[in-house]
Amino acid sequence: MLELMREAEGIGLAAPQVGLGWRMFILHVPEDAEDDRLASADPPTATTGPRIYIDPVITAFVGPPEPFEEGCLSLPEIRGEVLRPPQVTVTALDEHGERFTHSAGGLLARCIQHELDHLNGILIIDKMLQTSRMKNKKKIKELEAEGG
Ligand SMILES: [Zn+2]
Repeated sequence: MLELMREAEGIGLAAPQVGLGWRMFILHVPEDAEDDRLASADPPTATTGPRIYIDPVITAFVGPPEPFEEGCLSLPEIRGEVLRPPQVTVTALDEHGERFTHSAGGLLARCIQHELDHLNGILIIDKMLQTSRMKNKKKIKELEAEGG
């Protein structure tokens, strides 16, 4: 999964996207000081490396939802604005079965919420703002025609 995510130049990948029924996702939101993505921020807005989240649960959403343009490796030609709270607290198991809990902001908070949606069968086209749906209308129609 890690290789797939890197090849696709994505920052996150959920198990259902590769046909696995596990409640698990991986992410790597790289640090970029110019974009305000820092693993050392409080709460962190990036990670220093790849991270595995098994059986993840978001235990807190903080702040009013904000729009931000998202893409998805499962929907390569579609990008659209999705409203999400800017900060979350997530708890999950790591690859050793150890529980960890952390807060996240910025792109990291957004990525966690996006990947968790995949575990519940929710895609950005289900959540994007009406204006974005209109912009992607043709591509969404094509997808629905394919039964995806
Ligand atoms: Zn996605």
